[in-house]
Order: sequence, then structure tokens, then C-alpha cells
Amino acid sequence: MRQITNPPNPYSQYSAEYVGEPPPTKLEVFEETATRKVITKAFASDWEGGWRYTVNCYRGCIHGCTYCFARQYHEYLGYGAGTDFETKIVVKPNAPQLLRQELKKCRDKMPHLDFSFATDPYLPLEASYELTRKCLEVCVDFQVPVAVITKAPLVTRDIDLLKNLKKVSVFFSMPFLTKEKSNPFEPYTPVPEARFRAMKMLSDEGIMTGIGIAPVIPGYNEPDIPGLLERAKGCGATRAFMSMLHLDTDSIEAYFVQKMHERLSPTRVSKIVNTMKRERGGTLRHATYKERMTGRTEQWEVTQKMFDFHVRRLGFRQHEKPAEPEAISALVQPSLF
Ligand code: SF4
Repeated sequence: MRQITNPPNPYSQYSAEYVGEPPPTKLEVFEETATRKVITKAFASDWEGGWRYTVNCYRGCIHGCTYCFARQYHEYLGYGAGTDFETKIVVKPNAPQLLRQELKKCRDKMPHLDFSFATDPYLPLEASYELTRKCLEVCVDFQVPVAVITKAPLVTRDIDLLKNLKKVSVFFSMPFLTKEKSNPFEPYTPVPEARFRAMKMLSDEGIMTGIGIAPVIPGYNEPDIPGLLERAKGCGATRAFMSMLHLDTDSIEAYFVQKMHERLSPTRVSKIVNTMKRERGGTLRHATYKERMTGRTEQWEVTQKMFDFHVRRLGFRQHEKPAEPEAISALVQPSLF
């Protein structure tokens, strides 16, 4: 059971403090019918680095990864970046219709669409709403290249559509090799084994798959990197990327640290905090946006070299950086991110 925990929202004047035990959370679903646009232009250095055009049919994510950078977007809605992000889920029921309208205007200039960045496109609600699925149907009609990033085996439900896309890749976000390592940071996600099984199912169907080892939490999951790449290779993945933990806002940092204290031993927490601070020059937060994906020490260089070595050894391809197609900038919603 989750109990309500939200760091103060910097955009609100008030925040709730509970005297005694906070009440349990409950799932609340809000249907947002006033949405006018569904394609968002976003800068995403985490994944393939550069400008992306993203589609998110939901906001908030019940998977509740404590490090999730999308937590900050819930604060824009007036919610908290903690358990509110995990339990107050905004659904855009008209996303497929909007996507069709927008693609009619800009299909010829749209290089690709990414399903991710503000939520997992295959969070459990997708099983009943099928909004990601209906958006993929639109992408098949318009033959738009698509990339999906997810932690959920539910993506295998849509193999029929993914196979019919002009170009597609499905990345599984998998920073930890075992359920035990994953649990403190990804308490409500499908376990790593389930993600590997889904990766294999997709690869066996001829769909390009990849692994995102993100975040690497300094002092915690670096030793998992070779094993993750080996397992992904065995499941047919051909692409891989890695990035360091970045805690983008005070709220995300506060929630991340609080949950570590609740779920890990004090020794383990100290090790992670101290290693992270060495990488960040004395704090847990990066000083500049440019620095957020990498560390500063020789230890991080060793980690990067280890990743590169195994990527080469196993024959993975790393990402190419897509160029920003200026021509469509005016046609899509400016970045929320
Ligand atoms: S699955 Fe993705 S979007 Fe959902 S909480 Fe985890 S990192 Fe965030």
C-alpha cells in the first residue's frame, strides 16, 4: 500500500503536511478532453540525444520509478511529484483523433514519433483504454516511423501493428538485472525478467528492439551493465544506450532520497549519495543541463568505457543523433519538457 507523499510543489503556495500517518493513496483517473494537440516537441538528451517529437496519451505513471524525470511535469498540473504522479493519472481519450488531424497537416515533414517521455505508453490503464494502440493504428495509416520506450510487456499486444509500421524500434528501459536490485527504485514495474521475455517476443517477430540502461545510479548498478547487455543480446536486441541518474528538480531529489531511506540500508544509501555527490561536484543535482547525463570522475569514465567495450563486443549499435527538422517546428506543440 502506498501512503500519500508529495514534496512541496514549487508552483503551489500550499502543501499538505500530515499530523501522524498519511492516508493511503488511491488510483484516480482524470479524462482530459480539452487537449488540442498531442504531438509535443521535446528535447531529450536521455534517448538518442536531441529534438524528438513525442506522443503521450497519459500523464503520470503508476509504475512509480523513484528516479523518473517526468515527475516534474505533474507539478505543472498542480499535483505533487511524489505519489500524486503515481496515482493521479490523466488520460487523453481523444489522442488518436488529434494525432490523425495533426499528421494530416505535417506527415510529409515528420521524421519520427516517439511514444514516451511523460509516461510509459503501456502503463496498466492502456490495457483498457487502448489509446497507444489506436495511435499506432494512425501511425500505420500515415506510415510514420515510430519509436517506443517502455517497461511493460503489454507492448507485445500490439505486435500486429508494430510489424506494419514503416520503421519501428521498441526500447525497454532496464537499468537493473534482477528484481531485488530493481525493487527499491522501480517498485511497481514489471520485473526485469518479464521485460526480457517481451523483448524476445518482439525480436522474434522481426521488430527492432533495444535496451536503455538508464539510469545508471553511481555506486549501485554499474556492475549490472555487462549482464544487462548480454541478456538483451540474447533476447535479440540490436541497440543500446546508457545514461547517468539525473535528479532534475528539488522535488524529484527529495522523493528519490526519501524512498532510498525507506527501502535500502543506511550503508547502501550513504554509498549511493556519496558516490553521486563525487560525480556532481558536491551535490546530488547536476550543475548544468549539459552535465546531466554524465559524471565528472574517472570512475564514470571507467563505467562509460565498460559500456562501450561490451556494446562493441556484442555488436550493438549505439544511437545516431537525429537532426532537428526545423520545417515542422511551427506545426507542433512547443515543448512541455
Ligand atoms: S515507467 Fe517510465 S514513465 Fe513510468 S515512472 Fe518509470 S521511468 Fe517514469
